[in-house]
Amino acid sequence: MHSSYTTADLQAALRARMGDAAILTEAAEMLPFCRDWHGDVTSNAVAVIRPRSTAEVCEAVRACLELGLSIVPQGGNTGLVLGAIPDRPESQVILSLERMKAVRSVDPDDFSMVVEAGCILAEAKEIAASKGMFFPLALGAQGSCRIGGNVSTNAGGINVLRYGMTRELVLGLEVVLPDGTVFDALSTLRKDNRGIDLKQLFIGAEGTLGIVTAVAVKLTPCPDSVATALLGLNSLEDVMQLYRRARRDCCDLMSAFEFMPPIAFTLAREAMPDLAMPIGGDCPVYVLMEISGSGLVDVDELMQRFLENVLEDGLVIDGVVAASAAQARNLWLFREGMNEGQARRGMHLRTDISVQLSRLPDFVREAEAAVAAAAPDCICVSYGHVGDGNVHLNVMPPSGLSAAERSVRIHTAKKAINAVLDRYHGSISAEHGIGRLKRADFEERLPDVQRHLLTAIKKAIDPAMVMNPRCQLNLGELS
Ligand SMILES: Cc1cc2nc3c(=O)[nH]c(=O)nc-3n(C[C@H](O)[C@H](O)[C@H](O)COP(=O)(O)OP(=O)(O)OC[C@H]3O[C@@H](n4cnc5c(N)ncnc54)[C@H](O)[C@@H]3O)c2cc1C
Repeated sequence: MHSSYTTADLQAALRARMGDAAILTEAAEMLPFCRDWHGDVTSNAVAVIRPRSTAEVCEAVRACLELGLSIVPQGGNTGLVLGAIPDRPESQVILSLERMKAVRSVDPDDFSMVVEAGCILAEAKEIAASKGMFFPLALGAQGSCRIGGNVSTNAGGINVLRYGMTRELVLGLEVVLPDGTVFDALSTLRKDNRGIDLKQLFIGAEGTLGIVTAVAVKLTPCPDSVATALLGLNSLEDVMQLYRRARRDCCDLMSAFEFMPPIAFTLAREAMPDLAMPIGGDCPVYVLMEISGSGLVDVDELMQRFLENVLEDGLVIDGVVAASAAQARNLWLFREGMNEGQARRGMHLRTDISVQLSRLPDFVREAEAAVAAAAPDCICVSYGHVGDGNVHLNVMPPSGLSAAERSVRIHTAKKAINAVLDRYHGSISAEHGIGRLKRADFEERLPDVQRHLLTAIKKAIDPAMVMNPRCQLNLGELS
């Protein structure tokens, strides 16, 4: 920050450049932007800037450069790794994309859509659906997260299995660079092999290289038939066997395959007490499976035949198939509600891990045993997008502990899990990114060559360290 400016000077200067409506400075107004989704961390900022257009984003970036402020971009603030809230509130502004939410075009002939970065994911999906098209990105936070945030975290979710992560859905990007110029690559071309694909740098960059202002994405035909089943199984080995069979027998039409422990029902009902139990709830592990198709494909018949076979073989021991879209929604509420149930039990360890598919059962067993040895009074909750080898192995300390005691348990459990993960050569961040929460764990495991390349890219694109400093890597002050 420019040493001769007070916070009030900085706020006044931003107002003078951007106008009153674009700047929030009152603590109460800024609070929702400064607190993380779980409510574990509350920060502050010099101001929250809310531009309405790409030109206004450029203006905001130039103003921050002149005033010596750094910028923390924010979409829906649903990221779970503290990447979207300031860590140096006295010298940082939050740049929220919430007022840039237009859908610029939906083109069913090109199977593409162009949306501004602040468009809420669920709204983008609805607009695509109104034209008979499907935008496959789907995650629990879709009612709040925004497309620019999805791109910046390379979000995953329940449909990765069939459609890939956000990176695979992006055709083009518009990005305001740290010097206030626009990188315009908002193309909807499907194939374009003209040299290095620069837009890829900004996908998953968590706002460290620029501000994504608009995105061109791929659409697919709307799946007009979806079959959803909740199945009870005896073990994680059986889950993986079911997964392999489902991929083969259902002709890769599977669009989701999630596993969850029986405690999922309890946790979801703590958050949503009116949820009716769809199934007994006493199997060792559950799978929520979905197959979907369009046109001439009959997924209901396919699901029925598949389940007949696996029930007969004893692979599945209990199950329910949704008879309507409302029943399918109800089944998904258990998977989504368990996140909120965990949040209600207070501060806990949340991991976002991936390992090789074939090693997933062994990893979960070993990691849970390591936690049981290191923090025996904690409860492990392992669930996730098992078809992608992605597990959220979360650890909840017992109620009644002080915040300090909870932190100790969380730290101990994380160390135990990461030691097992390293032996399995897994990833500490399968889909949520690094942010500031996982920076130390990331840097500790970062090979020299990768560190060198990442530093060189950051220095080349953002020499003044304007964009989200100390997110992902702590490179100090470069300017
Ligand atoms: C209940 C729940 C379920 C979730 N499930 C999943 C899941 O299944 N899969 C998954 O991948 N994630 C999941 N998440 C995490 C989160 O929703 C995703 O990471 C999402 O993509 C974040 O989008 P956002 O708009 O909220 O971004 P934010 O939280 O606002 O920001 C995330 C990061 O991106 C940067 N950023 C945001 N917008 C921009 C922009 N326009 N330009 C440049 N940088 C930007 C921020 O600075 C920050 O570093 C879940 C979160 C919750 C709360």
